[in-house]
Amino acid sequence: MTAATALSGRGGGRAPARDTPAAARRRYFPRHGSYGHRTLSYDLRLDYDPGEGRLDGHARIQAVAAEHTRRVELDLAGLTVHAAEVDGRPVAVHRRDGKVFLTTGEPLAPAQPFVADIRYGGSPGPLRTPFGPIGWDRTGDGHDGTLVASQPVGAPSWFPCNDRPDDKAAYTFEVRVPRGHHVLANGTLHGREEHDDGTVGWTYHHPGPMATYLAAVYTGRFAHETQTIEASPGGSPVPLRNAYPAHLAAAARHDLARQPEILRAFTGLFGPYPFESYGAVVVDAELGAPVENQTLSVFGSNHMDGNRSWETLVAHEIAHQWYGNSVGLTDWQHIWLNEGFATYAEWLWSEHIGEDDADTLAREAWRELSGRRQNLRIADPGRRHLFDDRIYVRGACTLHALRLAVGDESFFRLLRSWHDTHRGGSADTRTFFTHAEHTAGRRLQDLLHPWLFDKRLPEFPAST
Ligand SMILES: [Zn+2]
Repeated sequence: MTAATALSGRGGGRAPARDTPAAARRRYFPRHGSYGHRTLSYDLRLDYDPGEGRLDGHARIQAVAAEHTRRVELDLAGLTVHAAEVDGRPVAVHRRDGKVFLTTGEPLAPAQPFVADIRYGGSPGPLRTPFGPIGWDRTGDGHDGTLVASQPVGAPSWFPCNDRPDDKAAYTFEVRVPRGHHVLANGTLHGREEHDDGTVGWTYHHPGPMATYLAAVYTGRFAHETQTIEASPGGSPVPLRNAYPAHLAAAARHDLARQPEILRAFTGLFGPYPFESYGAVVVDAELGAPVENQTLSVFGSNHMDGNRSWETLVAHEIAHQWYGNSVGLTDWQHIWLNEGFATYAEWLWSEHIGEDDADTLAREAWRELSGRRQNLRIADPGRRHLFDDRIYVRGACTLHALRLAVGDESFFRLLRSWHDTHRGGSADTRTFFTHAEHTAGRRLQDLLHPWLFDKRLPEFPAST
């Protein structure tokens, strides 16, 4: 789902990106995230009482400061901080406007990892945003389940974090719920521990690196299915797990059944699947749109009808694992890179299964777009247009225009090398522009600039 050419690297020892007033003015959510530190890992221990809708949390955050500082700034909304420590020493806590400020006694040194422990809790709920309520929510008739759908800024509804799309980290989740409830989270289940008080702790780990908005936990009563698939000949097998409420099992089982084939098709087109597992969770609630949580996409009950009516979205969310999750965004203004690629992948899937090919679908989409107002620069559409469907469709048409101009061989090499070069990192539109020119071996200014930076809709170029 999201122009300097700043790139974050693949974790490790890189310094945090520095902020500038000009960059801050361009950001769509300037009050989210901090440039004062870079996160290495989140270790989230969450006790959740579904009856009361109450969460008791302990977040252990390992991070690196950008410069000498005594202040750590985190995002957390609607929940109370009970106590906090940095490197084992109690620190002063101040709250303001969805922020938690920790003040240490001794300054933190740049490039020196520190550990912040935050004990917090309350009754989490979705945050009010320009895109509607986003974040943690309760599900089911009896409200005994929970969901997380955080894109773009819902993560602070359930854990203290550095809520920037380019601050990627490893995650461990240890979630305790009453026996009989299930827990799903990103990554792989590492264990279940029964406690004497009738609760069960479920531990998941995902090495990531993962942006905050893609982190997700689901609790409730689910039917599960797991299998292991060969995504590519000779490649690492990918464990696939799906979960859905029992009353949706038949429809969901049918509608998700071609995920292995989609993963294989996209592995063939985009390169090796970038993570250690994949899966889909269907929640007992209607969702406006599915969300491509890393390794665990979420769908609403309204996306499963037993007829594969929404299979394009199943393919779309899988494509995001490469484009959006593995290659993320330096900031939300570049969202066409996520949505254009995932929408184009829908067309490639259609072609793969012998339905309309990408060229037919692109020309249909272009005709439909040409009848609509052209008031968006998709490379920086403005915050209120972040999820405007014209970004998705024109973004995909932009890729098709590129394919027509450079030819299939160069285009598919570009899709793979774009992911391969930036996997685990974050990128932006200018970087893509440069990458496309480099791969094609020629200037693409006259082609790409109008598609990305002008409002007027360009014509498709002649095919090479
Ligand atoms: Zn999407």
